[in-house]
Amino acid sequence: MLAYRHLFHAGGYADVFKHCLLQGLLVSLAKKDKPFFYLDTHAGVGRYDLSHAWAQKNREFENGIGRLWERSDLPLPMRFYIEQVRIENPDKRLRYYPGSPLLARRLMRPDDRMALTELNKEDCASLTTLFARDHNVHVRCMDGYQALKAFLPPPERRGLVLIDSSFDRAKEFARIAEALTVAYKRWATGMFAIWYPLMETNAMIAFERQIIATGIRKILKLEFAIEADDWTLTMRGCGMLVINPPWRFDKEAGALLDWLWPVLSSKGKGSASVNWLVRE
Ligand code: SAM
Repeated sequence: MLAYRHLFHAGGYADVFKHCLLQGLLVSLAKKDKPFFYLDTHAGVGRYDLSHAWAQKNREFENGIGRLWERSDLPLPMRFYIEQVRIENPDKRLRYYPGSPLLARRLMRPDDRMALTELNKEDCASLTTLFARDHNVHVRCMDGYQALKAFLPPPERRGLVLIDSSFDRAKEFARIAEALTVAYKRWATGMFAIWYPLMETNAMIAFERQIIATGIRKILKLEFAIEADDWTLTMRGCGMLVINPPWRFDKEAGALLDWLWPVLSSKGKGSASVNWLVRE
């Protein structure tokens, strides 16, 4: 049984960061006429009830989605993202927060396909119920890293894989680098988005080295720190690697994060950045 439950963190700043970027990637896939495939290897439950005791424990959503909910000055991509959250809350009170599977589902067209894997049995049961009658969605209660072998390459030959681990085991950074090597061999033209927490500097340098050593090209690194570099009490921020990002995604994501950072970083510490870890 896995100890991590995403409901404690749902709608927090890390979710806002990840889900805005995810939305940008899926919107770009949906621009072309051809169907796409989306694989979410660590899918969670799909929808989070923020009134639940677990979400109320630290009320992390207040410093994430809560800071955007009432604002009327959102830039266009943020407006679109908030719109997706509003659909879950038709009475205009923020209670339900959509996870990555539900956000992605809204951006799919009739021929697009989604596969979701989740290892926690209870969470996977909730996910299965949420998409029970949806023929475009395939839910499997299995290890997300095994899913990379099971589902790739997809017959659509275009699409996105989100790897959003809970990082509740040792050596997760190394596991991700290994899994990417295998997945990229199977599908070098696919888009991959990998979320990660910002840990102490040496761990991050080691992770970058492991990723560079895979030999994979065209890797964009997006980071969002809300604490200073030497902060160790909690996660100081998070990041996302995007392999094979859409054209101009670096510029668009940069503008988005420049807007988002002052809204979500109350202490004025840390920074948002977009850099190429490996160019084409
Ligand atoms: N992607 C979700 C979202 O954005 O709404 C959140 C996912 S949460 C950060 C990580 C999830 O991965 C947890 O639900 C956890 O149970 C699950 N998990 C942990 N290890 C896993 C593994 N090896 N394979 C699949 N799921 C795993």
